[in-house]
Amino acid sequence: MSTETKKKTGMYENVIRQFTHAADVMGLDEGIRKILLATNNEIVVHFPAKMDDGRVEVFTGYRVQHNNALGPYKGGLRYHPTVDIDAARALAIWMTWKTALAGLPYGGGKGGIEIDPKKYSQSELERITRRFTYALGDNIGPELDIPAPDVNTNPQIMAWISDTYAATKSPQHRFTNFHVVTGKPVGTGGLEGRDRATGFGVVVTIKSWAKLKNENLQGKRYIVQGFGNVGYWAAHFLQKEGAILIGVQDSSGTLYNQNGIDPEALIAHCQTTGGTVAGFPNANADTGENFFATDCDIIIPAALGNQITVENAPLIKAKLIAEGANGPTNVDAEQILLERGVSIIPDILCNSGGVIGSYYEWLQNKRSEIWKIKDVLNMIEDKIITAFNNTVKTAEEHKVDWRTSAYIVGIKRVAITYKERGIYP
Ligand code: NAD
Repeated sequence: MSTETKKKTGMYENVIRQFTHAADVMGLDEGIRKILLATNNEIVVHFPAKMDDGRVEVFTGYRVQHNNALGPYKGGLRYHPTVDIDAARALAIWMTWKTALAGLPYGGGKGGIEIDPKKYSQSELERITRRFTYALGDNIGPELDIPAPDVNTNPQIMAWISDTYAATKSPQHRFTNFHVVTGKPVGTGGLEGRDRATGFGVVVTIKSWAKLKNENLQGKRYIVQGFGNVGYWAAHFLQKEGAILIGVQDSSGTLYNQNGIDPEALIAHCQTTGGTVAGFPNANADTGENFFATDCDIIIPAALGNQITVENAPLIKAKLIAEGANGPTNVDAEQILLERGVSIIPDILCNSGGVIGSYYEWLQNKRSEIWKIKDVLNMIEDKIITAFNNTVKTAEEHKVDWRTSAYIVGIKRVAITYKERGIYP
């Protein structure tokens, strides 16, 4: 397992290097390049919350709004000790390219609290979340900036945010403000299928890769880093394609079983441990030092950023890396992998099912409708396949890798808006 410090560094540097490379390849206008390198707003809040024993603690929260040329800022909130301004910036910038590539009417934002949520009780987390929402105030809003779940945040936390935000409005405006966040529980305006949208989308991109490369997913061996929302649902859907999960790593440990780990049995185990995989009986555990070197066909990183590095990239045996996580592959590591012929489905394409699902939740709320899961998953699949095909086509046109081409598709959409609208005044 990589160290916290390793993850903390480098995501911002990576996103800027990725953007600059794509901008160079497409010959992006200098003025637009300058605009897109800057973040529009960076909100840092320090706010108090009462602990169960009566003590007061002060927390630091972030919301970075990178760009809103195409629509309201959109992106998750992360509760993790590695959340800082650079991480929020990097993740916000990735959101701009992800939403643009997916063809959504959104910009990019991201934020969170620098906190280890495991150290707090449920009632403390509720008070911390509600005070964070209050501190953000009207810097977020259903037509301005719409947060969603990310690492260590979930539908319950979204329900608290939605409720707190709406409670600050006058009674006749409360219901028109619930969609200030997406990823809410279904009973609170959430969308059927939003829970699985990201993992489902990861598997849609893996199936698209298999079709393109004439690969059969039946019997393919894969490993997953992170067995939370994205990791579990990706495994759930990949299992249905006949692929075999042979390794799982999370913050608690690493498991292997060459005969296969049943994702459903593992998630049932996680429900008894507070969400972690350690102690699962039907697998061998180890330190996970060389997890990515596991002999397998597909790697799904679905945890934190900067996990695939120049140190472990040369050891990777898989032929495909499907980036469920945001920013899991360091730029220099990617070069090593591309030279070795490893396919990489870049994060802004691979995990875009989540924000596409969020878009449909937002639309459902705006229209006061309730949609069926079957229709939702079909709509998500359709948008991801379009983005996948655009990425592949653009890669062929520019003779570049898929990450660069995915950026080019996204940057073009944003650049056109600036060209058409100009800059006021
Ligand atoms: P989650 O909190 O549900 O799960 C995170 C998982 O990562 C947990 O299993 C945790 O144990 C594991 N993890 C944490 N630290 C680790 C470490 N040091 N080594 C190995 N594993 C570790 O979070 P999630 O929502 O599944 O998000 C996972 C990734 O997917 C993040 O990069 C997130 O930005 C990205 N993502 C999430 C969504 C979404 O809809 N939730 C959408 C797009 C992208």
